[in-house]
Amino acid sequence: MEILPPALERLINNLSALPGIGSKTATRLALHILRGQQGAAVELADSLSKLHESIQLCSSCFAFSETDPCSICSDPGRNSEILCVVEQPADLLAIETTKSFKGHYHILHGTLSPVDGIGPDEIKIRELVHRSNNGVVKEVLIATSSTVPGEATASYLIDTLKNPGLRVTRLAYGIPMGMDIKYADKHTLARAILRRDKAV
Ligand SMILES: [Zn+2]
Repeated sequence: MEILPPALERLINNLSALPGIGSKTATRLALHILRGQQGAAVELADSLSKLHESIQLCSSCFAFSETDPCSICSDPGRNSEILCVVEQPADLLAIETTKSFKGHYHILHGTLSPVDGIGPDEIKIRELVHRSNNGVVKEVLIATSSTVPGEATASYLIDTLKNPGLRVTRLAYGIPMGMDIKYADKHTLARAILRRDKAV
């Protein structure tokens, strides 16, 4: 049995600690890095080592950013009257790629999960309530996932954000584009019927 050089084994162990990377993939990646240019490996190591010192959370929306406030919060071209609430930074990126939303964001950094000890104080709900009452925000669009924790978080937010001066909306759910409706699951179909849009 081949014994790996310790430096290579260390890299494989570190890579395999990443989500979705098993030991086979970690070994393949480590060998790829080893066979490549030393400069590319140094650049990779440098980008990793600078990550935490360069990036912080925006104190307003809690997005990862090199500046505080972040580029979205400080963009005068965006509508500060509407806040889109998402679970994670990756959700913000997904919505931004659509170029369909020009408001501001609020990242919760998680969902409510009482069995795991995650209550409202463990995610950025208190901060959301505070922002929603700042006199500028007129609409909060809840864009949590349609998972059990995402739905539970959305329900909690709808109750907590009740305020006559605030419109609370949710993402519409429906049949995916290009999908034959007979293949849609009944919950998606039921929700699409309940939240149907005016056609003309
Ligand atoms: Zn921000």
